[in-house]
Amino acid sequence: MASWGEPSFRASQLLRWVYGSEAASFDEMTDLPEALRGKLSAALHFESLAPVTRVTSADGKTTRTLFRLGDGKAIEAVLMEYDPLGLGRERRTVCVSTQAGCAFGCAFCATGQQGFERSLTPGEITDQVLHYARVAMKEAARHTSEGEGAWKRPPITNVVFMGMGEPLANYTATLQAIENLNGGFGLGARHMTVSTVGLVPQIKRLAREGLQVGLAISLHAPNDDLRQRLVPAAKKYPLDALLEACRDYIARTGRRVTFEYVMLAGVNDSRREAAELARLLRGLPPGAGHVNLIPANAVPKGLFQPSSKESIKAFQDELIRRHIPNTLRVERGALIDAGCGQLRGGGRGTGVGGRAPSPDP
Ligand code: SF4
Repeated sequence: MASWGEPSFRASQLLRWVYGSEAASFDEMTDLPEALRGKLSAALHFESLAPVTRVTSADGKTTRTLFRLGDGKAIEAVLMEYDPLGLGRERRTVCVSTQAGCAFGCAFCATGQQGFERSLTPGEITDQVLHYARVAMKEAARHTSEGEGAWKRPPITNVVFMGMGEPLANYTATLQAIENLNGGFGLGARHMTVSTVGLVPQIKRLAREGLQVGLAISLHAPNDDLRQRLVPAAKKYPLDALLEACRDYIARTGRRVTFEYVMLAGVNDSRREAAELARLLRGLPPGAGHVNLIPANAVPKGLFQPSSKESIKAFQDELIRRHIPNTLRVERGALIDAGCGQLRGGGRGTGVGGRAPSPDP
């Protein structure tokens, strides 16, 4: 705004429209002079991605949207709504992609099977959240105008960087998106979680940013041998180095680290592996490591089968017996092929239990 000779308050007005309203174009920013709106429309794209199709789970609580980027590439983002404590304090979490495709090729992951196309820009990452926020704000405005009273729920409460791609391999853009969402959109850093396959130098760098974002490690195996088969990046960063980086992250940020562990039948889901996992995590400060057990989703062309309920229960019992904090993730997204390891920007058909994709309004 300054470079266009506009007063500085115009920048604040613009930011309010972009991050805090359902406006989807510069034309809708009614308190900006018409000439300025025209100039903005001519100079900038309002959105960096276009929603193409949307699939909603049968219970209406999970929505997967396929977006087309400016260069024609496709990515997906997922909105999950839930009330974890059943107290009417609804969480609305957006899982965002940071890359189109992924170069890391984890054996059980649909995105990894797709290969790498390119990293997303900070705007493309941020816009996935703003898209869902605008939809929610529009819905709230409709409720109010239909006389149903003001609809008070926050548009988005949490963001997880766990969609397509490796966030820390697109470090600068991911960090800028965190800053946009924190400073512009007003989402606390503690409400954001970055997931990584375990890139040790980037974890150490993130620990030094002075941010309070959560860290999730895609662990999936309790020893180097098995982990290197499931997660090729582990060849470069063995578990000793990874755990040391996690201890550093915990010490510097005061945040606990979550260890994601996808349950694959006959591969990593025995009691022996649970005991090994417990031993591995024993070196972390008490309460600073949390295991998130993820029932595997059936990935097309995948070589793996999901663990049985009994195996998952036995694995979890072993962790509990060994005092390792853990939760079993409720796989909301799996109902529409939007669970962990299933995003791939391909615009597949209906997911199991989901509705047919509909054009996004
Ligand atoms: S699990 Fe994550 S890092 Fe691994 S291939 Fe899939 S998107 Fe990439």
